[in-house]
Amino acid sequence: MTEKIDIAIVGGGPAGLTAAIYGARARAKTLVFETGLPGGQIVTASWVENYPGFPQGVSGQELGESMFQQAVGQGAEVRTLSPVEGIRLEGRDFVLLVEGQEVRASTVILATGAVPKKLGVPGEAEFAGRGVSWCATCDGPLYRDKVVAVVGGGDSATQEALYLAKIAREVHLIHRRSELRATQCLQEECFFHPQITMHLSYVIEEILGEEGKIRGVRLRSRVDGSEKILPVDGLFEFVGVEPQTQLVAGLCELDENGFVKVDVNGLTSCPGLYAAGDVVCHDLKQVVTACARGALAATHAAHYLETRDLSA
Ligand code: NAP
Repeated sequence: MTEKIDIAIVGGGPAGLTAAIYGARARAKTLVFETGLPGGQIVTASWVENYPGFPQGVSGQELGESMFQQAVGQGAEVRTLSPVEGIRLEGRDFVLLVEGQEVRASTVILATGAVPKKLGVPGEAEFAGRGVSWCATCDGPLYRDKVVAVVGGGDSATQEALYLAKIAREVHLIHRRSELRATQCLQEECFFHPQITMHLSYVIEEILGEEGKIRGVRLRSRVDGSEKILPVDGLFEFVGVEPQTQLVAGLCELDENGFVKVDVNGLTSCPGLYAAGDVVCHDLKQVVTACARGALAATHAAHYLETRDLSA
């Protein structure tokens, strides 16, 4: 028999887990599907300093785990390692295909987040996981007393450069423009950090190495076109993220950059389908805003369930 639930949440990051807390508290049968560990992208963040209630900061992993415990404690079910393979509309319900089984849901909240973008330069594929990394928390400890480079100029690049500076001997921050886009306090910390060297207005043209190990990166100046080789043992890429919208292609509208379009309550162009977190376009992509959007989406999904059943 097909399983029937009220709110299916796809993605167990801050947006999805907060939606689960609110859905369960509204006494809706709430089920979260997460492909990996609960916490989503946040588990790869070394340290979160701007989530209210943690004056000293908190590790991304601990924050993700706490949200998971809270969602389960409130009565939501969280199925980890359960990838949703497809979503289709059947009448007013959604049918989710999960590991070959169908799950019927009255509403869906898409909280699939975004994945790190790649540079797409020669050497990247060859050295991925063997010197090129997208997660400082996971791979940083491999570079104790070594030399690493970080590429990107946003909050992720600066925050993770600061984290890596606690482990590595030298950190080189490479950014393609003369100005960083990161939050001012992160920029200041990087500029004044004795172990961090800035390489502004440089792009990486190639990742160099031999015998399965990175030896350095070839940089090109965007000011005078000159080239330099920077010897490094590892490269951490933080050049932005791509929204994960494959599951809703054809179900709801996306914006020109591929993010899901929603109204103020998180409702997409498809009735009963909501979206929250980094899969939605908004200026401030933070844990706190992902949580807020998850709460809004679940509250409105629960309201939609009541009004839908009245008009059935
Ligand atoms: P982001 O803000 O989009 O920054 C991406 C950076 O990578 C930009 O500096 C961009 O350069 C650079 N870049 C993009 N494509 C590139 C390429 N092909 N080659 C070289 N450089 C390239 O991404 P993010 O830092 O991952 O942050 C994503 C979102 O999460 C942001 O909204 C951010 O505020 C948020 N976040 C918040 C925190 C926090 O509050 N603690 C921590 C992490 C992330 P340009 O500047 O030239 O475009």
